[in-house]
Amino acid sequence: MRTAHFGGHAADLDLMTSRRWNAPTGPRLFLVYVAVSLVPIVLLGAVLMWHDERTGGERALAQGRAQADVIMQMAIAPALDGRPLSEGLSDSEMTRLWSATDLAVYSGSLNAIRLRAFSGEVVFADNGTRTDPLSGDSPQFVLAVRGGTSTEVVTAPSGSGEQVIRVLQPVVPKATGQATGVLELYLPYEPIAAAVRAQQHQTQLYLAGGLGVMYVVLGLVSWSTTRRLRQYAAEQTHHARHDSLTGLPNRAWFRHQLDEALGRVTDGAKGAVVLVDLDHFKEVNDTVGHQAGDELLRVVARRLSDHVRTDDIVARLGGDEFGIMLPGVSSRDEALAVLRDVQTGLGENVVLGDVTLTVEASIGIALYPEHGTDLSDLLHNADTAMYHGKRGSDRMVVWDPMIATQPTNWHIVRTELQRAIDENELELHYQPKVELSTGTVHEVEALVRWNHPVRGLVPPAEFIPVAESSMLIHPLTTWVIRRALADQRQWRTSGVDWRVSVNISAHNIESPTFVEEVLALIGSADARPDDLNLELTETVIITDSVIADETVARLSAAGFPISLDDFGTGNTGLQQFRHVPAAEVKIDAMFVRDLAVSANDRNLVAAMIDITHRLGARVVAEGIEDARCADWLRSAGCDLGQGFFFQRPARWTDLVARYSVAADSRTREVVGR
Ligand code: C2E
Ligand code: MG
Ligand code: MG
Repeated sequence: MRTAHFGGHAADLDLMTSRRWNAPTGPRLFLVYVAVSLVPIVLLGAVLMWHDERTGGERALAQGRAQADVIMQMAIAPALDGRPLSEGLSDSEMTRLWSATDLAVYSGSLNAIRLRAFSGEVVFADNGTRTDPLSGDSPQFVLAVRGGTSTEVVTAPSGSGEQVIRVLQPVVPKATGQATGVLELYLPYEPIAAAVRAQQHQTQLYLAGGLGVMYVVLGLVSWSTTRRLRQYAAEQTHHARHDSLTGLPNRAWFRHQLDEALGRVTDGAKGAVVLVDLDHFKEVNDTVGHQAGDELLRVVARRLSDHVRTDDIVARLGGDEFGIMLPGVSSRDEALAVLRDVQTGLGENVVLGDVTLTVEASIGIALYPEHGTDLSDLLHNADTAMYHGKRGSDRMVVWDPMIATQPTNWHIVRTELQRAIDENELELHYQPKVELSTGTVHEVEALVRWNHPVRGLVPPAEFIPVAESSMLIHPLTTWVIRRALADQRQWRTSGVDWRVSVNISAHNIESPTFVEEVLALIGSADARPDDLNLELTETVIITDSVIADETVARLSAAGFPISLDDFGTGNTGLQQFRHVPAAEVKIDAMFVRDLAVSANDRNLVAAMIDITHRLGARVVAEGIEDARCADWLRSAGCDLGQGFFFQRPARWTDLVARYSVAADSRTREVVGR
């Protein structure tokens, strides 16, 4: 299956990522919390219940004491006259006491009651007996004598064996309010204990219910917290692994996936890693703005994702660089087949508002395990292949040991070229454009050379592509124009008045400030636009860039003659004539080389001359190497010729020495061949 939808692809990855993270950790975190939080709740419940149980006996005794107090206040105190009990009780006191206690004893709410003198002698007993198990000097009795109250659970004195609460407290008759003896009360324990137990039971029920509710509430809080934590963690993980602009996996995650794939190489896993780098992306940002640049990156991300297979991984590695992992691909042909689809899908024009952009990318491919099993090596190899594509004619390159051993490593050349511009290692050679009908020279073309300290004179083919794929083409072109205008000033003082032609790169034309820069250079050299001819290669014109069109129109309007260089080598046919106000067309050497032997080439060149003339421009033939060729071109109506037959490119001083034999207002030197 060849198509993978961008949204789905990214979303799948999302899910996979968060699932991986969540599966063990999320529910486990919650379960751990549920288990752990149960422990303190159970402990708290146990402690509270234990405490309740423990205080149950005390509460029964306190209730006994309260009942004794009531009996004391309601029945005993009103019945006594206030004399010390040691003096005995009067009959009326006895009667009142009997009537006050009888019913209580009878009904069983009072087990036994006695009144004692401070000596311990019993002066009143509900059962009438004065026999007494309690000694007068027991600590409980002594406490009551001193005004305190003692309460304890004992076996009933009646001998029934039943448990009772015994209360000993001072007898305080209402009449005097003075203690007169000791009240000894026996209250049945069981009803009080039952009431306390019922109370306890209820308390425990409330406690258990309360703790249960607390546990559930805490559980819910914890569940929602862990859920939010999980979501947050999943989001964080997603952010850490994805690029926010395109939603694609980022460099770190791509490396991780690749590393995992490489770990499976020992089990026979194969695949390819691909680096895709957009060409001229910086110019898009500089000319149509960062927003459009961002939009372009999103479009590219979508196209890449749409054109890979389902299991392939597309990532944005940063800037305008993308990575693709093709698992399972086992040969260069297989990789190229997948990537040709990608390249075709990528290559369609992108319309952003009223600007149409061409998307071009350089693609570098490295296969594993064939080209390496180490992550860094493999990425480095894909990178080398990609840069090889950038500076060569084939935009898609599979890594090969040959690439790596080439001496002109792109990075080295780029660094050295920067130095060359800064330290004036460049120089200009000039080649005359000869008027074929008269053999005179009005114009020379500046051709840059690099006087390399080690490599000697390096031709432009070896470093212009590097300058074009880095930003160095801008300072380089500026250098060339400044130098050419300075040289022109010099040769004018030597008696020749040649116009100078310079070669302009596509990248220059796509810069919106280019026109102002050239005008400034003209101004500071005290020259006129007409002194400088601008040669644009046909490929400059076919970039289909609005800015390039505008720049060319403005340059022409400013008075610069525009020349279409290498005519016939581009692939847009005559389309460029619709936009470019060309003053000159240079027929590429490819058509000129075989004029003497190829009738077809002669027909083509004749047609080109005719079209150019009809459009009001002049024709220059490039690469004339012999007299027959020059003669034929002259007879075919070609205006100017350039080539080794007339003159190889040379320093201007050498040209002046050769051509300044005679001069009028614009020097016309007869070529001596
Ligand atoms: P071009 O502008 O088409 O320049 C003509 C090229 O043809 C020059 O090569 C010249 O030396 C070569 N040539 C001239 N007559 C003959 C001939 O009779 N036979 C053969 N075989 N070749 C001939 P050069 O100097 O190596 O430049 C190559 C290209 O590099 C130029 O093609 C131009 O596109 C580019 N270039 C040169 N200088 C500059 C520059 O300053 N800036 C830019 N952007 N490009 C430059
Ligand atoms: Mg040229
Ligand atoms: Mg040319």
